[in-house]
Amino acid sequence: MDRTLIKDLRSVIGQTIKLQGWLQTLRDQKKIQFLILRDPTGLAQVAHWKPNDEVLAELIAKMGAETALTITGKVIDNPIVKLNGLEIQLESLEVDNMAEIPLPFDPFAETLPTIDYRLDWRYMDLRRSVNALLFQVQTSVEMAMREYWVKNKFIEVHSPKLMGTPSESGAELFSLDYFERKAYLAQSPQFYKQMAMAAGFERIFEIGPVFRADPSFTSRHMTEFTGVDMEISWINSHEDVMAFEERWLQYIYTRVKELHGDAIKKQFGVDLVIPEVPFPRIPMREAVEILKSRGYALPADKKGDIDPGGEREIAAYVKEKFNHDFVFLTDWPISVRPFYHMRIPEDQTLTRSFDLIACGLEITTGAQREHRVEMLQKQALEKGLHLEPIQFYLDFFRYGCPSHGGFGLGLSRLMMAMLNLNNIREVVYIFRGPTRLNP
Ligand code: ATP
Repeated sequence: MDRTLIKDLRSVIGQTIKLQGWLQTLRDQKKIQFLILRDPTGLAQVAHWKPNDEVLAELIAKMGAETALTITGKVIDNPIVKLNGLEIQLESLEVDNMAEIPLPFDPFAETLPTIDYRLDWRYMDLRRSVNALLFQVQTSVEMAMREYWVKNKFIEVHSPKLMGTPSESGAELFSLDYFERKAYLAQSPQFYKQMAMAAGFERIFEIGPVFRADPSFTSRHMTEFTGVDMEISWINSHEDVMAFEERWLQYIYTRVKELHGDAIKKQFGVDLVIPEVPFPRIPMREAVEILKSRGYALPADKKGDIDPGGEREIAAYVKEKFNHDFVFLTDWPISVRPFYHMRIPEDQTLTRSFDLIACGLEITTGAQREHRVEMLQKQALEKGLHLEPIQFYLDFFRYGCPSHGGFGLGLSRLMMAMLNLNNIREVVYIFRGPTRLNP
C-alpha cells in the first residue's frame, strides 16, 4: 500500500490507508487509545479500540513520544475531532523505531532548553515545524539564486577548499597537514572566482563552504559557513555589481514570498517585503557623519570600519528616511579593505567597494577588483604581503584579464535577515564554532 500524507486524508474518507510518522502524543483511556501521529504535512488522530487487540494495546501503552510508526487504518469523517474533523480507526501498527523514554527534550514543549543544549540534540530540535520551514525556505532561496543566475547566463564553478596559500590574510586561517607540507582551508573562493574572469567565463557563481578560524563567540559568526559568491566581467565600477545584486535579491524575495509567504507569516510572524530597487547607497564617509549626528560613537579601534551597533543604527536611519530594509555602504577606506579592491581614481584613500546591510546585519561584501597587475603588486606590497606566495594569483592578470568585480554573501546571514532571527546557530543546519565540532 502506498503512503498517504496527512494533508490528503480528506480525499480518502472511507478508505483504508497507510500513514507513516512520529507519535506526537498518546492519550491512553480505559477502552480506547488516541495516538496523535505527525508527518511533515500535519497531525492526525488515530483511534485504537483496546478490546479489538489487547496485545497491541499493551505495545501502544509502552511507546514513548516520538516513536517512528507505520500504521494502517480506515479514515472516518468525525466532526468532533478538533484537529481536522477526521479520525483513523487503527487496523495495523508497526514500530519502525521505538523512542526511548525520557526524550533528551520535548521539541514540542512550550518552553525549550537553551540553544546550546538543543544543538547537542540538533536532530530533535530540527523536528520543530518552524525548523522544517526554515530549511524549505532556504532551499527555495538557493533555487531562486540559481534561477536568476542561469537566466542571466552565469556559469557555476566549484573551487577547491584546500589551498597552498591563504587567499586573504594570515589571520582567521585554518592550516592542516598535507603530506609533507602545510595546506590551508579556503577563507573565501576569492582568488578562484577571479581566475574565472581571467579564463574568460565573464559571469560565474559558486555556493560552497568557507572556513574562518575566528575565535569569537558572536551571534553571527561561524568557523565554517556557506558562502554565496559571484563575479562578473567588463564592469565600469562597483556600481554595476550592486545593481546586479539588488535585482538578484529582489527576485529571490519575490520567489520566496510566492512559495512561502503565508507560512512565513504564520510561523515566523514576518510579512515578507519585496525590496524595491535601487537600494539606498551611502558612502562610508557620509555614514560616519550620520552616525555622529545621531549620537552614535564608533569605537576608536575601528579606524573607518563600522561595528554591529553602527550597522543597526544606520539601518534605523535608512528605515526612517527611505523606508527601506537594505542599504549599501560604499567607498570604504583602504585601511579596512583587502589589497585587491580597486581604489577610487579621484581619491586613492578609498576603494570601489561596498557592504550590504539587511535589517541591520551585514550580509555581503563586494567590490570592483584591481585587474592591472602592476597596481595589484603595488597594493599588495603596501599591505605588507609577500609577492612570492601569491604569484600564481598575480599571474591571472598578465595575459588579458577584463575589468571585473563581485561579492560574497553569507547564506545564513541572509536567512537571519529574511526571517528576522537573531542567532546564526538557530539558522544553520549544523553549527560550527570555536568550541563546537559536534554533532
Ligand atoms: P564580519 O565583518 O561580519 O566579520 P567579514 O567582513 O569578515 O564579516 P567577508 O569576509 O566580507 O565578511 O565575507 C562576506 C560575507 O560572508 C559577509 O558579509 C557575511 O555575510 C559572511 N560571513 C563572513 N564571516 C562569517 C562568519 N564567520 N560566519 C558566517 N558568515 C560570515
